[in-house]
Amino acid sequence: MSKRGPGAAGARGPARVAVEPEIPFDLPRVTAGQRERAGRLLAALERAYPNARCELNYTKPHELLAATILSAQATDSGVNKATPALFARFPAPADYAAAAPGDIEPYIRTIGLFRNKAKAVHAAMREITEKFGGEVPRTMDELLTLRGVARKTANVVLGNAFGINVGVVVDTHVERLSVRLGLAEAGTPIPRIERRLMALFPRDRWCEVSHLLIFHGRYACKARGVECPSHPVCAEFGSACELRVSARPRKAAEVTGKSRARARGRAR
Ligand SMILES: [Zn+2]
Repeated sequence: MSKRGPGAAGARGPARVAVEPEIPFDLPRVTAGQRERAGRLLAALERAYPNARCELNYTKPHELLAATILSAQATDSGVNKATPALFARFPAPADYAAAAPGDIEPYIRTIGLFRNKAKAVHAAMREITEKFGGEVPRTMDELLTLRGVARKTANVVLGNAFGINVGVVVDTHVERLSVRLGLAEAGTPIPRIERRLMALFPRDRWCEVSHLLIFHGRYACKARGVECPSHPVCAEFGSACELRVSARPRKAAEVTGKSRARARGRAR
């Protein structure tokens, strides 16, 4: 569907995105069979979650950026409870820039790690104001210069606020499900999982792929406890879902350890 051969672009009518940024690295090789299986998985996930979408509430790109920074180690619903008052008090990046991190804290106190997040949101909004004329930048490289913004956050903003697919969001759900659903081998580092997903799924679906995997991870194929092997998606594609049952105690400890390490990484 998204195969682009020489001369193919003109024959397919108007482009969906005017300029698709080049991917600055090679994607891993995948077989036609693996891509076909990924396509069937995508269709099954779409049937299961026709309304999968970004669950953070926002109306402007900088609001999505702030909400995404706030969502680390927190639930989207917890972030959504705090952001209406935050966004009302600070309508534009310049309003954060004119304030101090301490002025942001009262609005996000209910969210974990709020002191560091107040600093990160403040610094990112100040940089957007000073370096980017108050507009959230639309490239991966520029987004990565902002404090508190790593590749995952940049992918969320580019994909959802701007419709630009330069990567796939790999959060804890996407990481876990990529292994369970046979898209990546256990122990694959996150950057390599992302590249694998980019190779397996059509580029114009990357944003949706992460939403669908996140929905499935949140509501069915959860980290602990539930009966996901009976879910149609896991029954057909979840070759590693059953393993969870016997590996459960160790798995839970690993996840906790990883979360702490990640929280430490953020705090630096
Ligand atoms: Zn499962």
